[in-house]
Amino acid sequence: ASAVEIRKVNKYYGPFHALKDVDLSIPPGKVTCLIGPSGSGKSTLLRCINFLEEYDSGEIRIDGKLMGYEAPGRKMAGRKLREMRRSIGMVFQQFNLWPHMTAKENVAEGLIRVRGLSKAEAEKRAAEALTKVGLGDKMGNHPSRLSGGQQQRVAIARAIAMEPRLMLFDEPTSALDPELVGEVLNVMKALANEGMTMVVVTHEMGFAAHVADQVAFMEKGELVAVDSPQAIFHAP
Ligand code: ADP
Ligand code: ADP
Repeated sequence: ASAVEIRKVNKYYGPFHALKDVDLSIPPGKVTCLIGPSGSGKSTLLRCINFLEEYDSGEIRIDGKLMGYEAPGRKMAGRKLREMRRSIGMVFQQFNLWPHMTAKENVAEGLIRVRGLSKAEAEKRAAEALTKVGLGDKMGNHPSRLSGGQQQRVAIARAIAMEPRLMLFDEPTSALDPELVGEVLNVMKALANEGMTMVVVTHEMGFAAHVADQVAFMEKGELVAVDSPQAIFHAP
């Protein structure tokens, strides 16, 4: 069964048709890269998966469960939506860290507030997640004392500490200086190798070609091709 099943999804911004009958199956334990020109609807589609954007018709199912709606046209109650979102981690272009908290506190905060862990238990899990992204020696640093690449790795640690079943990445390296892109992609690659289900909107064609299991190419709101990276990039 698919981790995420997207069926005939349409999305409008006013009169603008941003997603047109999009069909896509996200296989569990695999990396799906969403590529395509700027403005083609990649971010919109990604945000529909966790219902940060409401889609207007069609279905998105996560592990078989309809996301965002109780029934066609009837939105899900806030509590149920939050429950479903708990299994989905998201990393944005902007890192969105709290400036007054250390790296460890940034990661622990959600575990305390959302998961209800004790401070000690949360900080233990935060330390594990930060070690995993190679920041075991920077846990006490505030964001202002971390590079962009390190800050994005804290954001990834914050997401994986919640033990999501699915990770969504929206252009995670686009705000970084070129020399810092590789360290973030390498952390993502390590997560992929552990079998994390990932959907990644990216302009990093090297990552899409070498790390993705499936590449979906969008153009003007339509998914125009879904295939292996070999087929999409015509690699030998
Ligand atoms: P991509 O991620 O491929 O760059 P987006 O999903 O961000 O594309 O945007 C797709 C289209 O929808 C663009 O033309 C964009 O201008 C439009 N769009 C995105 N968000 C909004 C919004 N909140 N209101 C109106 N139009 C939007
Ligand atoms: P681009 O071609 O967009 O500049 P790169 O080729 O530098 O991107 O690769 C981006 C990321 O993709 C790398 O950091 C690495 O994680 C992964 N990657 C690139 N080439 C390979 C490869 N041959 N084998 C495995 N992973 C690779």
